[in-house]
This record gives sequence, C-alpha cells and structure tokens, in this order.
Amino acid sequence: APAIVWFREDLRLDDNPALAAAVATGRPLVAVYLRDEVSPGVRPLGGAARWWLHQSLTSLAESLAGHGVTLVLRTGPATTEIAQLVRETGAEAVFWNRRYGAAERAVDAELKTGLREDGVEVASFAAALLFEPWTITTGSGTPYSVFTPFWRACLASPPPRAPIDEPDEVTGWDRDVPTDLLADWDLEPTRPDWAAGLREAWQPGEASAHRLLDEFLTDKLAAYDDERDLPAQAATSGLSPHLRWGEISPHRIWAQTDLVRRGAGAREAAGASRFLTELGWREFCYHVLFAAPDLATVNWRRGFDAFPWPPLDEDALAAWQQGRTGIPLVDAGMRELWRTGAMHNRIRMVVASFLTKNLLIDWRKGEQWFWDTLVDADSAANAFNWQWVAGSGADAAPYFRIFNPELQAKKFDPHGEYIRQNVPEYGTDAYPAPIVDLAQTRKAALAAYDVVKRSA
Ligand code: FAD
Repeated sequence: APAIVWFREDLRLDDNPALAAAVATGRPLVAVYLRDEVSPGVRPLGGAARWWLHQSLTSLAESLAGHGVTLVLRTGPATTEIAQLVRETGAEAVFWNRRYGAAERAVDAELKTGLREDGVEVASFAAALLFEPWTITTGSGTPYSVFTPFWRACLASPPPRAPIDEPDEVTGWDRDVPTDLLADWDLEPTRPDWAAGLREAWQPGEASAHRLLDEFLTDKLAAYDDERDLPAQAATSGLSPHLRWGEISPHRIWAQTDLVRRGAGAREAAGASRFLTELGWREFCYHVLFAAPDLATVNWRRGFDAFPWPPLDEDALAAWQQGRTGIPLVDAGMRELWRTGAMHNRIRMVVASFLTKNLLIDWRKGEQWFWDTLVDADSAANAFNWQWVAGSGADAAPYFRIFNPELQAKKFDPHGEYIRQNVPEYGTDAYPAPIVDLAQTRKAALAAYDVVKRSA
C-alpha cells in the first residue's frame, strides 16, 4: 500500500522531512497538494500569492515527475479530502510538515485523529522553522514578546538540525489517481494580465531559490550589513517568497551561511550574522503568531484598541495603493509593489508608517493590501510587521517614531535612483502634489496617540 506525502507550504524536495520519512518506509508514494479555501478560518490567498503558487506547483510537479511521482491536485476541505484520498488509494501512512496558524493546526489535528482512528499511520515534522515556537520560552515559561532576548535564547538552544538531502531512490505509485488540472484552478490572472512585472522579476521554484542563495552568499554577503537598507542596490537575498512557500528550507540556508561564515573574513562574517538575524526575525514572527493567532486582525497590545482611527478616507487609501500620494519615496515603494509583487524592507516601513500615521488609516487596511499584492505575503511576517510599524505590536517601534519620508529618501536613496526607477514622471508637472502636509499630519497622529497613552 502507498504512503501519501501531503505538500503544503513546503514545495521542495530538498530538506523535506515528511518526504524523507515517506521514502524511508519503502512504500510507493502518492504526492498531493490540496487547495483548501473552505476549512474554517483558513485565509484565502491574495492575488500575487496565487500567481506564485501556480508557478511553484508547476515546478514541484516537474521535479517529482523526474522521480516518477505524479503530483495529485485536489480541492476541498482537508479533513474530508485527504481522508478520501486515503480510501481511494488504500494508503496506510500519511506524512506532512507542520503549519503554525491556528486554523491550519486545528485542521491538521482533526485529520490526524480521524486517520489514526482508522488505523492509518500519520506523522508530522518540523520543516519551516529553525526553532519550534513552543520550545523557546522565557524563564517563567511564557512566550517572548521582545526580539533580542528571543533570539539570544534561540542561539543558546541546541543548534538547528542539519538539512536532509533530496532523496534519490523514490518510487511513485503506479496507479492513476484522479487529479484536478492546475489550469482549471485559475490561479493566474487572465484579463487584465497584471502579472507581466511579476514574471520579469521572479522565477518561482526550488532551483531558483537555491540559485539565489548561492548568488547571495558568493556576491552579496560581504556588503549586506552595510547596504541592506539601500533600496536602489540589489543588496538583499530576494529569498522571502521562496521561504514563504517553503521552496527552500531555513535549515539549508542556515547550514550554507554558517559554512561560508567559518571560512570568511570579517565583512562576510558580519554579513552572515546579520543575515541569520534577519532569519531570526522571521522565526520571531511565527513565535508571536503562535501565541497570538489573531495577529492579522487584533491589536497585539490591546491598549491600542482605544486608538481613535478617524472614518476611513477612501480617496487617500486609493492614492496610497496606487502610488500617487505626491510623496516620492512612498509612491516609488507602492509602485514597485504593484509592478513586481515585492518592496524593499526599508520602504515597506516607510509606506506603512505613512499610511498609519500621516494618513491615520488603520494598519489592517495596509495589511490587507499587502496580503493581496505581495508575492511573499506571509501570515506571520506581514501581520507582525504591520503591527510593529503601527506601534500596536510586539517589540514595536514606539508610536512617536514617525518616519519622515523625505529624510528617509535623503538617507537611503540619496541620489534618487530608487525613486526614478519607480516614478518616471518624478520632477515633471505630471507628478502630483502631496495629498497631505507631513508636519501637520505628524502632529495630528501624536495627538491621536495621546488617547491610547491615557487609556493604557
Ligand atoms: P533579506 O534581507 O535577504 O532577509 C532574509 C530573510 O529574512 C527574508 O527573506 C525574510 O524571510 C527574513 N526577514 C527579513 N526581514 C524580516 C522581517 N522584518 N520580518 C520577518 N522576516 C524578515 N516579509 C515576508 O516574508 N512576508 C511578508 O508578508 C512581509 N510583510 C512585511 C510588511 C511590512 C509592513 C514590513 C515593514 C515588512 C514585511 N516583511 C515581510 C519583512 C521584510 O520586508 C521582507 O522579509 C524582506 O523585504 C524580504 O526581502 P529579502 O528576502 O531580500 O530579505
């Protein structure tokens, strides 16, 4: 009887513990990806993520086919669909890698119980994070709410396991299993086709993730610590959407970076530590999400519930989304986002501060727009970082730290390169006047914040 490997947010063959365990059983494999938009609480994917998923599944299916395994595609609630696949194939074992959202965990737990009652072997594995969220706790056993001690505790715990190589002796199950057609899932845009810029900027899939890591470690690591904040330089790894879909594992990144660090000079070593610390922020986002599952909708600091958001200004929100606020660095970022599905980290902070503080628009509106437009839209990192900028989150920037986009531009884009790359009409009459006065809106934001301070 076959073993089922259920692929979810781990669309890779390298360092895939569930796959490795299934192969080790010696059973023929059935590989499945399930499109589940109906299980309670599961958040539907945004547009850019759907585009990415389409390419990534195409790539995974090709890699699996190279091993003689067909990737079966199914649609529906996981608890019934996976159980159905078990019945159809007579599978006696099911393997998957863990997810960390509350809704997903509930689905997985219910399915696990049901299958085990039917005598099916089920095993789940740690694959997406270097440190399982519940294993890192403060002295009093609670989750961390501040990054620096969290990361210190991670570094003091047993190091991440070594990555597992892609299995070579894989046997696919030789019977036909009914499958959806990927094209019928309509994950890609048709009319209008807004994905041209995404296709130009990205190549989803495992092979390209490994290529990016190699390039980063060879060419960019030494300058990373100095240049990672400069949006006009391609100084960062570009790995976030690949990590989002698990096309590359953090264990593989950790191991390769560590290897380079050992043999390198001081600048590379500084770059490596900084890069691993950024991966640490990703871990921290999941740590916080695990303890606060409603992170995308509920203020992490509940005192922030008293924040007096004014009625939503739809025009201002639209100007922000479309990159026509008349604030060059903000518009450059928002247009980069729309065109490529990504935005430089420094600029994400600037546009998020501008939305929540200068426009006084609730961070949830920004979180939702990013969710729909980012190729790396991630349930932990997106919600965490929005709350971090808004001041309502864990280890958040103090509210009164309101980014001044003009000063930020002077500091991080001193020659205006990034702005001109993204806002070609900048400096001509065609470019709009600012929709708000930065100094006045800053004052209004501080006054609004006083309400929270008083109620806290
Ligand atoms: P690198 O500099 O090469 O960093 C390596 C990896 O570290 C990244 O791929 C990412 O996995 C991780 N990382 C780096 N910075 C952060 C961070 N602040 N928080 C969490 N992980 C981090 N990142 C996402 O992956 N998904 C999101 O949905 C997301 N939304 C964000 C929203 C806002 C408002 C802000 C301010 C930041 C957001 N980030 C998000 C974090 C960060 O901007 C991106 O991870 C980064 O720009 C990705 O580029 P890179 O892979 O080249 O980064």
